[in-house]
Amino acid sequence: MISIKNKYDFDCDVLIVGGGPAGSGLAYHLSKAGTKVIVVEAATFPRDKVCGDGISPIALAELHAMGITDTDRFKRANEISQVGLFIKNDKVVVNLSKPDHLPHHARIIPRLELDSWIYEAAKEVGTRFLEDTRFCRYQITDLGVITFLKTGSRHFAVSSKIIIGADGSSSGVARQLHGVKSSDQFQLLGLRAYYEEVSGPNNRVDIFFSKESFPGIYWMFPKGEKGANIGMAMVSATLPQKPAHVKQLLQRHIENNEDIAERIGAGKLQGKILGWPITFFNAGSILTDNRILLVGDAAGLINPLSGDGIQYALLSARWASEVVIQSVALNDFSAGQLKAYRTKVDKELAYDFAFSNFLVQFARNKSLSAVWMEIISTLIARAKVDKPYADTIAGIFEGTYPSYKALNAEFIAKSLLQGGIRGFESMLSMAQNPGSVLATGNHIVQSAGQFLNEINSTSNEQAKWLGALLNRGLSVAGHTINHLINTRTANK
Ligand SMILES: Cc1cc2nc3c(=O)[nH]c(=O)nc-3n(C[C@H](O)[C@H](O)[C@H](O)COP(=O)(O)OP(=O)(O)OC[C@H]3O[C@@H](n4cnc5c(N)ncnc54)[C@H](O)[C@@H]3O)c2cc1C
Repeated sequence: MISIKNKYDFDCDVLIVGGGPAGSGLAYHLSKAGTKVIVVEAATFPRDKVCGDGISPIALAELHAMGITDTDRFKRANEISQVGLFIKNDKVVVNLSKPDHLPHHARIIPRLELDSWIYEAAKEVGTRFLEDTRFCRYQITDLGVITFLKTGSRHFAVSSKIIIGADGSSSGVARQLHGVKSSDQFQLLGLRAYYEEVSGPNNRVDIFFSKESFPGIYWMFPKGEKGANIGMAMVSATLPQKPAHVKQLLQRHIENNEDIAERIGAGKLQGKILGWPITFFNAGSILTDNRILLVGDAAGLINPLSGDGIQYALLSARWASEVVIQSVALNDFSAGQLKAYRTKVDKELAYDFAFSNFLVQFARNKSLSAVWMEIISTLIARAKVDKPYADTIAGIFEGTYPSYKALNAEFIAKSLLQGGIRGFESMLSMAQNPGSVLATGNHIVQSAGQFLNEINSTSNEQAKWLGALLNRGLSVAGHTINHLINTRTANK
């Protein structure tokens, strides 16, 4: 007689691949609720991760709720209360106003420390970690999931009711789920260098824009004790050419930019300049299916405009935990049940990410760099004289203010007005110095000529760029309509 085994002994309820903020954060919430969790992590803690180390107030609120900010070591972490925005010959320093509902100002915390704190919190509530162990592939069966792993030369498998991909921007779990690698249309390249013995101020992060290397932006984030994290992020697929030597761009910027040279002072590079891909949100990609779910960078939850990802890793971890705890209680890990997580991600983040993607698609076209520099100069000029306006811009970079909210009529009107003032100032200066008209006129003709030449020589690529821009524009339009409908319904 065949006996049918209706109760299967799983090694754990939930297998999480990756122990960064998303994986360890999720493990913390699940273990605290009594769920049996195993985290598989390729590295051993404490482990480094290439990052700007900027921890936004929203991320800190998540850590606060986990009890991680009650410690002395957190209190020693470098607090940030100002942001400097630099463009050639101009800058603005904005005081960061802490939103009332968030407990902390931003901090700079090296990931070697931060990620260990989250890992330790998860361990304390009962998560089991398999470190120095790599995910190879998963197999979903009628009963559960078998995940194939490797430690050194030893291969083994673990069974669970669900598998969660929290394995970062080059996620193997996401690759198997999607069947393809993520497109470079949704990728940034990031670089980070640590410096020691730099000059102050310690409470200010600086962001630098320059036409030569746009669409790359540079940062200098002080980590206290005279150390600093200096780095850059750049769109992977730019037009017309790809950034072949990104490391050289960062080195050149450090050597030649007067503002950053002043802050580095006699500071010295510690270790190597390290790079890392940043995969950002593709609204079309699958985040959940039968017995599988993606969180953090593995789900592409990075804002391409600010480069912030830690807050989304922690938020998505908490949202996923709420759905998975319910799945365990119902013993239902179907795609239909897990879809509630996707709905939450879309509701909270999709509009902001769609708008940021749209702007990044513009920046991808290097032929428009001069236009961008003019826009950034206009924003900086206005931010110098208008505190609420400056707060909006700082909030977008700090990750506390969704970029689409900057689309409000007041912000646009102020920007246009500032653009008008700058135009008027240029006209005045031309009137005082007629020779400059010729120089400016020549410059405009040259730029326009260069732009047209580039359009002609790369017309296929430009057509693709325009197609992608329209696509992202339509996505923003869809979200705007939904947002307006929801706001109206809520106000009725
Ligand atoms: C240059 C740069 C600067 C950045 N600056 C900032 C910033 O200032 N502020 C901010 O908020 N965000 C920043 N980000 C983004 C931020 O680093 C990520 O969003 C964040 O690390 C996401 O956390 P995560 O847990 O999803 O992934 P990760 O932190 O990448 O963790 C994934 C984990 O999975 C493990 N893993 C990978 N593959 C496997 C495998 N096959 N088997 C087992 N384990 C595996 C890895 O070892 C890793 O520990 C930056 C990113 C870059 C590249």
